[in-house]
Amino acid sequence: MPQKVVCSKCGYVLFEEEEDLKPPDEIIQMFEDERCPKCGHKLSVVPVKVEIMPLKKSRRSK
Ligand SMILES: [Zn+2]
Repeated sequence: MPQKVVCSKCGYVLFEEEEDLKPPDEIIQMFEDERCPKCGHKLSVVPVKVEIMPLKKSRRSK
């Protein structure tokens, strides 16, 4: 089963594997300071294989 982990902020592909599944925390530990090498976002252990989020209009300033 393919596995893909992307940065939840910028979408940078952190890890892509065709066969083996790695624990997300192990993947994150491969990166220095556990941050996205592109945007510097602190990585979480939530794999973003499928990201389904309801569109909320929370753009109001308060
Ligand atoms: Zn990023």
